[in-house]
Amino acid sequence: MTDPAPSRALELVADRAEPAALASEAAFRVLVVDDNPAIHDDFNQSLSDEQTRCRALDELTLSVLGDLPVSAPVSATLGPTFELDFAMQGKEALARVTAARKADAPYALVFMDIRMPPGWDGMESTERITAVDPDVHVVLCTAHINGTAPQRLAALPARDRVLILKKPFDMLEVRQMASVLCEKWVLSRRDKARMAELEHSVSEQQGELAATNAHLRKEIAERALAESQLRKAQRLEGLGRLAAGLCHEINNPLSFIVGNAEILSEDLPEMASYLPQGLRDELAESLAAIDHGANRITKIVRNIKLFARQSEAPMEVITLRDAVDSALTMARLLQREQLELVVEVGEEQVVGRRLELEQVLINLLENASHAMAGVRASRGAHPLRLEIGIDASEDCMIGLYVSDTGPGIEHAVIDNVFDPFFTTKAVDQGTGLGLSICHSLIHGMGGTIDVQSTPGEGARFTVKLPTVGPPPEESAEAAPEPLFRRSATSGKVLVIDDEPFILRTIERSLRRHVVTCVSNVQDALGLCTREEFDVIFCDIMMPGASGCDFHRILAELVPGAEERIVFITGGTRVDSVRRFLEKVPNKCVEKPFETNELRALVDERLGLRAEHT
Ligand code: ADP
Repeated sequence: MTDPAPSRALELVADRAEPAALASEAAFRVLVVDDNPAIHDDFNQSLSDEQTRCRALDELTLSVLGDLPVSAPVSATLGPTFELDFAMQGKEALARVTAARKADAPYALVFMDIRMPPGWDGMESTERITAVDPDVHVVLCTAHINGTAPQRLAALPARDRVLILKKPFDMLEVRQMASVLCEKWVLSRRDKARMAELEHSVSEQQGELAATNAHLRKEIAERALAESQLRKAQRLEGLGRLAAGLCHEINNPLSFIVGNAEILSEDLPEMASYLPQGLRDELAESLAAIDHGANRITKIVRNIKLFARQSEAPMEVITLRDAVDSALTMARLLQREQLELVVEVGEEQVVGRRLELEQVLINLLENASHAMAGVRASRGAHPLRLEIGIDASEDCMIGLYVSDTGPGIEHAVIDNVFDPFFTTKAVDQGTGLGLSICHSLIHGMGGTIDVQSTPGEGARFTVKLPTVGPPPEESAEAAPEPLFRRSATSGKVLVIDDEPFILRTIERSLRRHVVTCVSNVQDALGLCTREEFDVIFCDIMMPGASGCDFHRILAELVPGAEERIVFITGGTRVDSVRRFLEKVPNKCVEKPFETNELRALVDERLGLRAEHT
């Protein structure tokens, strides 16, 4: 089997030294697949360790005797050793390769005959074997390469691991080829192991990176949300200040419009006998219109004040179910048969102001009901669903949501729904203050309110309030409300206000009593040292001495008289005045006031006087 012309594979590896790595390996497992047992013997001779050592010894002897150049024999290099197995057919070979891998003792190399009738030929066997073992190298042995062999070889999926060796082959050539391919096998397995290690550490790092990335994303999203909430809160606070200023200016004129309209309505029946019928009706109609308009402005102004004010009421622990239940009893909702109402709220507790939370809930419920009423007709059999539930709590907050299956809110306007005066409702149905009040109240309790909506499918408002932490500060025991009692007796009333129209309006509203009006604190103090008044209505903010000054000086001049003061405020935001009003027990009426409110206060005071005397 001597081949004078070295094969191409041999040429490729001829000048490569056998690496030290190979020497350290245990015997490489080599499988010879050929239907001719004589070929098995050839390979045995060529590759078995015993044979190699014998040949090396012969060659060494010959070279010592001078018959062979010392540098020529390659077999003297006692490199790798091989452990040989044999198979007669492809199927048997496949079974051996499969079993070897299973036993974790894989073959490094297979020498495969191409023609092995009656079973699979070498190509097919190679295809199957390389599919089972992704590392094994195959040397196809053949005497002739027939017409389709190159294409079939090129089509093999593992063609980079397949070589062709032409028969008859040289022992030396076979051994060298086996050495080189086994070296390649070891190296590629090492590379694979290193690659797997690298992949593992890369995937570990990727996992860490992904976690860091997700964490960063979450932080960025949270920060963006917090920033947008802050911007919204600042915008609303600015609007609140503007609205509060506006209210302050409107209050005085509104008070005398409302008061005078009421007085005129009361006087109308008396005047009726002096007026012709037509004029009387017209007057009544005009008064009704003034009354209607003024009442609407009063309502708006009250709402604006609510939106702009900073609540001073103490915080308390609220059980959400209680707040939801009372909001549900008070809210005007669609009738139950038109509505599927789902309440999934339990004993969760938050810290806030219960009445204010109820007011927020009423507003959200009524808005949802109103929104759904609009789609009721077009939905036909579709149920309208109003849902109140708890959102997963986080960051020491609990979320309470109100969701509906109404028309939802268009993306273009969703950022504006909390702005004061934003409304899509008809003039008589909405002022656009409801949600801005909700926003202001919830922020005043240290919470947040947000909306999510899918147009056409509904809206979901979520209120988040702090969960119960350390026990809330003890609120000062609220003084029991004095019993309200009417007295027919006329009382003595002093009114102090720098606005003459207000003075006139109060004077006329309280004409059943003896009313004295003054426009400044000095005059009022002079009167109080001489006379006793049952009630003293005093504007808190006046040029020169204020209502606070009046209270302090009166307490010094006529101790006890200061208790009869009822302050009139325009919803002041001046801190010192607010603190003063919190400190003193005196009552306050807010402009625009109603005449009945003033009358009730005087009656109440007279009732108290009657009780003491
Ligand atoms: P108002 O109810 O007086 O219009 P709000 O401030 O309460 O004032 O609401 C502002 C606007 O927000 C409403 O006019 C409406 O367009 C929208 N809105 C509020 N709640 C809902 C809801 N549940 N579904 C759809 N739109 C809503």
